[in-house]
Amino acid sequence: MGRIFAKSALVAFASLVASLLLAYTVVPTLGGVVDGNAWLILTICPMLVAWPASAFAFLQAENLRNAHQELARTHAQLAAAHKRLEDKASRDNMTGMLNRESFFLALDRTRPRSERGALLIIDADHFKKINDGFGHLTGDAALVEIAAAITRAIRTGDVLGRIGGEEFGAFLVGASDQEATRVAERIRHEVELIRFQPVDERTIPLTVSIGGTSCPKGATISDLMRAADRRLYEAKNSGRNLAIFKPDISAAA
Ligand code: GH3
Ligand code: MG
Ligand code: MG
Repeated sequence: MGRIFAKSALVAFASLVASLLLAYTVVPTLGGVVDGNAWLILTICPMLVAWPASAFAFLQAENLRNAHQELARTHAQLAAAHKRLEDKASRDNMTGMLNRESFFLALDRTRPRSERGALLIIDADHFKKINDGFGHLTGDAALVEIAAAITRAIRTGDVLGRIGGEEFGAFLVGASDQEATRVAERIRHEVELIRFQPVDERTIPLTVSIGGTSCPKGATISDLMRAADRRLYEAKNSGRNLAIFKPDISAAA
């Protein structure tokens, strides 16, 4: 408020000087005289008009500036809330991984930027037995442990998602076939290492089977899923707790 008072006082003073200058230059050229009454009017008018008028204008400008800042703040808060909501909607509540739709969306977005790459499908072994033997809540806790182990085993920048009940997808961005084989084996091993003891001293063994394929340009997501799925079934049929990675995505492979 003090700033507005000072600024408008400055404007009033400037208009006072301007009106005096005008009076002393223009009036004599027109043959007039600036006498005492004129002096009074020349001094009072700018003070009575310019001061309040400019104070009002400055006040309006300040209000507008404040409203604009408030709007920008609200907009930023709204954008942050929107981002949080979007993030929450794209994630699976239990594991914190991307949900199925968001995983495939991320795959679609990431693949064109990745020269090479590999897709792994990771499926928990005999999971139904865990639910049947220890209850659904214990099954949930086991899934969280498995998800954490998978997350520990992948590389920074890889894309992870929970694509089914006890099934996860991993897109290994830019990975060569050797790297993909290594990461798949690391995931399998990391899950095997989990010491899951939800109720007593007994450890419930947790294992996963993994099927993987490389991602050549031009292959569709369903081609890749089919190829990775074939390896997953191979791993299941070969006794489980196994990672099978083959680069070839053709149906015969
Ligand atoms: P396989 O080794 O052949 O994969 O055997 P599996 O028992 O894991 O496979 P199956 O498809 O027969 O059963 C999957 C089980 O996973 C059944 C389902 O109830 C359980 N499951 C899926 N989602 C969840 C979940 O969110 N929480 C719990 N606790 N269980 C789940
Ligand atoms: Mg399973
Ligand atoms: Mg399954």
